[in-house]
Amino acid sequence: EAGRLADRLNVSLYVVGGCVRDLLLGIENLDLDLVVEGDGILFARKLAEAKQARVKAHDRFGTAIVLLPDGFKLDVATARTEYYEYPTALPTVEQSSIKKDLYRRDFTINALAVRLNAKGFGEVLDFYGGQRDLHDKIVRVLHGLSFVEDPTRVFRAIRFAVRFGFRLGRDTEALIEGAVKMNLFHRLSGHRLLEELKLLLAERDAMQAVKRMADFGLLRFIHPKLGWSSRLQAGLRAAEQALGWYRLLYLDREIAGWLVYVVALLEVLPERAVADVLKRFPFTQAEAAVIRAARLNGQAIVRQLSRRPPPKPAQVYRLLCGLSDETLLGLMARSKAEAIMRAISAFLTTYQHVKPLLTGADLKAMGLKPGPQFKQILDRLLDARLNGEVHTELDERDLAAR
Ligand code: ATP
Repeated sequence: EAGRLADRLNVSLYVVGGCVRDLLLGIENLDLDLVVEGDGILFARKLAEAKQARVKAHDRFGTAIVLLPDGFKLDVATARTEYYEYPTALPTVEQSSIKKDLYRRDFTINALAVRLNAKGFGEVLDFYGGQRDLHDKIVRVLHGLSFVEDPTRVFRAIRFAVRFGFRLGRDTEALIEGAVKMNLFHRLSGHRLLEELKLLLAERDAMQAVKRMADFGLLRFIHPKLGWSSRLQAGLRAAEQALGWYRLLYLDREIAGWLVYVVALLEVLPERAVADVLKRFPFTQAEAAVIRAARLNGQAIVRQLSRRPPPKPAQVYRLLCGLSDETLLGLMARSKAEAIMRAISAFLTTYQHVKPLLTGADLKAMGLKPGPQFKQILDRLLDARLNGEVHTELDERDLAAR
């Protein structure tokens, strides 16, 4: 349908990038990136019109996002033609502008396009050997200056290699080593580096991703003191196990898994270094709170939870309430003790959802005077319920009146 619209507008239309890669790998990918040879924004507007979709256009970049009513999202870009770069040259043949567009991409496997116009529909454009590299399972840059142009590609290379179980091309590997030697990453803002790090740590095999970073000496760009060690490995494995356990139990709840790995990474650093990392990277306040909570209160909470005799449910609740799930998993990963697992598990599955039967309104109806002591009474009722000391509403009324 989009192809027919392109034909009518007399422009060439291609689907490009990760979506083509995943299609050829047989992996589902719902992000559709389109490239138009011609006016991409006009095409996006017409497409949106036909589909009753919304458009957000960035005129400066010739790109637009089309938001379809069913939540599906299309990215539309304009292939930069040679016309812009060489004002005196004649307009070039049709294919050269998509070819140039693909040349600006990161890896051969991401530089494939499929034609959507009626003429040549479904044709794969593969100027740089992307299909061969998909077949041989290799992540390869398109040219020697790729990482100089954009050092974040180093992290992207590791991300795709780890995700698909690919290796890095030999030249690509050498270029990464060169980029590390040249310290190209100091040029990156904390923001961009953090974005890449998040994506890497959100991969299913995040531990492998960190290992590959370590192999290239990339961890020191997170902090100079950070390096691979058996302690770090154990911490990452524990984070992985905690996350695996959590996902089995709470499939319907989102968790920032990457943050649990960040906690594990920073766990091996001294306090000063963690402060540096929190300064260099723009974590949100909530994220920084998770990192701090896991470190500062972690030890104390773990100690309390593992003390003998074991704390009562209400005590467990009071220790853990107010901590995010990420912090709880950080605690779990840190201690790995059976008692901690059990306490956190009970908190997440049960204690968190317990409420007293009586409400503030009930207390008022009982003739109690509203005020700060209401909260105390309700807290007392909750604790008693958590500990199984009250059962019926009458029990609660007795306790409230005391
Ligand atoms: P994912 O499945 O992780 O989303 P993706 O390949 O779709 O993978 P995106 O970051 O959405 O990744 O990028 C879409 C496409 O844009 C890539 O396939 C690649 O062609 C191009 N691209 C993205 N980032 C860069 C970059 N830093 N340098 C060059 N090309 C890039």
